[in-house]
Amino acid sequence: MQNKPKVKVFVEARYRKLTRDLPQTVYFCPECKGHFRRRKKCERCEGFGKLSRDSVQELVGWVLGKAFGTRKNKFHGSGREDVDVRMLGRGRPFVMEFLNPRESEIDLAELEAEVNRRNEGRLEIEGLCWSDQTRVRELKETPHAKDYQVKVRSEAPLDLDACMENSGARIQVEQRTPNRVAHRRADKTRERWIEILEITPCEEGDLEYLVRLRTEHGTYVKEVVTGEDGRSNPSLSELFGVPCECLELDVLDILTKEGEQISEPERPLPFGHIS
Ligand SMILES: [Zn+2]
Repeated sequence: MQNKPKVKVFVEARYRKLTRDLPQTVYFCPECKGHFRRRKKCERCEGFGKLSRDSVQELVGWVLGKAFGTRKNKFHGSGREDVDVRMLGRGRPFVMEFLNPRESEIDLAELEAEVNRRNEGRLEIEGLCWSDQTRVRELKETPHAKDYQVKVRSEAPLDLDACMENSGARIQVEQRTPNRVAHRRADKTRERWIEILEITPCEEGDLEYLVRLRTEHGTYVKEVVTGEDGRSNPSLSELFGVPCECLELDVLDILTKEGEQISEPERPLPFGHIS
């Protein structure tokens, strides 16, 4: 039997994730892998096949997939953040690939508005336009520095002037693979740079601070805060002279490898866009 030729369409946008309960891609249960027969007896996911209700991929894919007339899609993010990390600022670039679409009369501007209408307060997408396979490779292979906002709790009040003495300087951090990912990543030590940009006390909590950080591609930010028993060295705990923990993390911007802001590329306007 001959297989039907595969037709793929690619679209691209940026997403902002406004909640701390949304994975980037479908979060299949690690026990049954979401397999339709095995999941029925699975205790881990209680037959659901997934460990989260939805994901960025699904929230975008349900709307676009319906319009394209196909449920088969792949999601390619320019990196990813942890489930409990918000993605703010201008958002994270991604490409979605739809397989064997049956519809071709597509109004991307309308679909963008529909995704945003249905997910108000959780997810926003912006700049939805046609894309192609070469962009997938670009997104996957381009390293980016990032700006973060970290909500930190310290064991004692921070001396903000002393903490800011290192601000603006590029600090080299020796970082061993964190314990939380050691089961799926090789245990090795990498060198990454960080910059402390700003520290402000939180109004709502004693001993809580918002720290703005710029970090090199591949830096484990939560461990940069705590130090994880010396596995990240130096850490904010060490630089500030007070043990600190990371309460909340937001990505504020995705930068060039060197830490410069990325200027918006010239892109064709989505079909149906009125300017
Ligand atoms: Zn399962």
